[in-house]
Amino acid sequence: MKITFNGAAKMVTGSCHFVETDQKKFLIDCGMFQGSVRERQLNHEPFQFDPAALDFVILTHTHIDHSGRLPLLVKQGFKGKIYMTPPTMDLVEILLLDSASIQEQDYQKDPDLVEILYTEDDVYNTLQYRYPLKYDTWVAEGDVEFQLRDAGHLLGSAYVNLRHKGKTLVFSGDLGHRDGLLQKPPTPLEKADYLILESTYGNRIHQHIDTRLKNLYDEVMATVAQKGTVIIPAFSVGRTQEILHALKTYAAREGRLGEFEQVPVYMDSPLALKATEIYLAYQDYLRDTVTRESIQFENLHQAKTMKESMALNFNREPKILVSASGMCDAGRILNHLPAYLPLETTKMLFVGYQSLESLGRKIQTRESPVFIGKESVPNRANIVTVEGFSGHGDRDDLYQWTQGLPRPPQRTILIHGETDSLEDFKAFLEERNHQVTLPDYLETISLEF
Ligand SMILES: [Zn+2]
Ligand SMILES: [Zn+2]
Repeated sequence: MKITFNGAAKMVTGSCHFVETDQKKFLIDCGMFQGSVRERQLNHEPFQFDPAALDFVILTHTHIDHSGRLPLLVKQGFKGKIYMTPPTMDLVEILLLDSASIQEQDYQKDPDLVEILYTEDDVYNTLQYRYPLKYDTWVAEGDVEFQLRDAGHLLGSAYVNLRHKGKTLVFSGDLGHRDGLLQKPPTPLEKADYLILESTYGNRIHQHIDTRLKNLYDEVMATVAQKGTVIIPAFSVGRTQEILHALKTYAAREGRLGEFEQVPVYMDSPLALKATEIYLAYQDYLRDTVTRESIQFENLHQAKTMKESMALNFNREPKILVSASGMCDAGRILNHLPAYLPLETTKMLFVGYQSLESLGRKIQTRESPVFIGKESVPNRANIVTVEGFSGHGDRDDLYQWTQGLPRPPQRTILIHGETDSLEDFKAFLEERNHQVTLPDYLETISLEF
C-alpha cells in the first residue's frame, strides 16, 4: 500500500491523503489549506492524482481543512462515493455552502486578488456523492475494508480503521479530548499495525477542564458586573455550542443560575443557528449532558436577520455576544467590532486559536488601531484569552489513546502539526518505543502488508 500526503504534512491544514492498493485508489479527506497566504496558495495547485480515477473518498469530519476541496475534486471528474457519518452529511452541507459564499464575497471585495475555487452550484453537485456510514460498521471496497469510529473531536467526527491483507492501518483524523464538553471521548484503539496520527497539540498540555470553565465564567461575569459587553469570537460549528453549554452548565453546577439567567446572551451567526439544530438532531452522538436546555436556554437570543444583528450595536446593556467567525476574518462579528472595540467597557474574550495573519490575532495582541475593511478602528477593549477550549486532545490525550494498543504500531506517522509540535511529539513517542516518521508534503510512503 502506498500513501501520498497531499496536505497536512509538516503543517496543520489541507488534510488529503491519497492511498493506493493493488485494486483501489482513494482519498482520506480532501481539505483546504488555510492560514498564511503561502499555504492558501496551495489550494490553487493542481491535484497530484487524477480525481476521475479515484474509486471513493472517506471523509473523517466536516472541518474545512478536511472537507474544503471536495467540490474541486468533483469539478475535476470525481464520481464515486464519499463515505461519512450521518451528522457529517448534514454539517458538511452547511459548511461547504458557507465556504463557497465566503469565496464569492471575498471575490466581490477584491476581484484582482482572489480566484474562486468553486461556487454554490459546485457544492450542490458534490453533496449528491455523500454516502452515509454509521460508526463501527465495516464496508468492503475491493481489497480494503474500513470502518469509522468516534474520534470525539466534533459532532460526527471519525477515525478510520482500515484493514488490508490481514493488517490494520489507522488514520486518526482529528482527535478530541478525554473530557470534551459536548463530544464523548474518542473510542479506544484496539489494533493498529500502522498509525497515522494527528499532532496539533503534540507538545501541549491543556488547562484542566474545571479551571477553564471557571475562568470563562468569571471573566464573563466580571464584565457584565461593570455593565460592559463581552464579545466572544467563536467558530459557528462546535465552538459556539460548546461555549453556550459551558456557561449554562457551569452556572447550574455552581448554584449561580439565578445570576446567569439575568444576563442576555446573543448568538449572532446564521451558520451557528443551523449548526445548533443539527447538534440537537443528533443528541445520541453527544454526551448525555447535552440537551436543548443546555445550548438553547431562555436567556439566549438568536439574531436571525441582519436588522436584529445590527441592532445589537446600539443596545448598550451588559450582555454576552457570541459571533463568528472565530478569527474575526469574516461573518457578522465584523459588523460589531467597529462599535465595540473602541469602548473600554468591552471585553474581547478569545476561546480559540488565532492564526498569525488573522484580524483576531491583531486584536488579541492589542494592536491599535486595527483595520476592519478600510476602516481604522481603535482597539481599547479589555483583551482576555481563556486557554484550552480546543476540539483537539493535548499530548497526553493523544498518547493515552495509543495506549489502547497491546504494543506500539510497527510505524507511527505524524501529520497535522506545526514543526515544533511534530518534532517534540516524535521525540516523546520515540522515548516510548514508537518508530516515528514525519512525512513531507507530497511524499509517498510505502507500507508493507
Ligand atoms: Zn478538525
Ligand atoms: Zn484538522
